[in-house]
Amino acid sequence: MEPEHINLVKQTEIFKNCKNIVVGKGNLNADILFVGEAPGKNEDEQGLPFVGRAGKNLDELLAKVGLSLENIYIANILKCRPPENRDPLPEEIKAHTPWLIEQIKQINPKVICSLGNYATKFFISEGNVDIMGKQPGITSVHGKIRFVEINGVKIKLIPLFHPAAIIYKRDLIPLWEKDMEIVKKEVKESMNQKQLF
Ligand code: URA
Repeated sequence: MEPEHINLVKQTEIFKNCKNIVVGKGNLNADILFVGEAPGKNEDEQGLPFVGRAGKNLDELLAKVGLSLENIYIANILKCRPPENRDPLPEEIKAHTPWLIEQIKQINPKVICSLGNYATKFFISEGNVDIMGKQPGITSVHGKIRFVEINGVKIKLIPLFHPAAIIYKRDLIPLWEKDMEIVKKEVKESMNQKQLF
């Protein structure tokens, strides 16, 4: 029998229509977990997140701040591609995020960076999908540290602009770099704190 979080995903319509479940990629021992929205066409075909244009941009953005997939793990809110890349539905988010919570427990990152509006609103709502629509957008919360708790899992959240948005809005690049400096500082500080005990 499969674990409940996998069963829940397999019961959704988008699972029935996708080619691959996209779980994640990167370093499972990383201090930073990035969380995007949902797989697109390329991700669905390859079974890996962020392998299309947004992924290429993410690789470049990480390189700008001296990081790579060695330093992060990356997953999505939804594990399957919604048809025509439409927005995730509340029922899909409810069914797919228990798997994300399992990933967070396994990786135990020092910082989670939500990419763009959907992932950010999920975390700011502390997993309460029905109030996601009431949350502030990424423009007002990016780069700001928040402490949230989902199902007893404590999370230090730093929202970031989605790399797909940065493809078209190049003026977001300096903001991304500034936000990533905050992420790196927080990771460093949590390491120092650990050494005190
Ligand atoms: N955008 C996302 O949010 N996730 C992916 O995996 C690819 C593009």
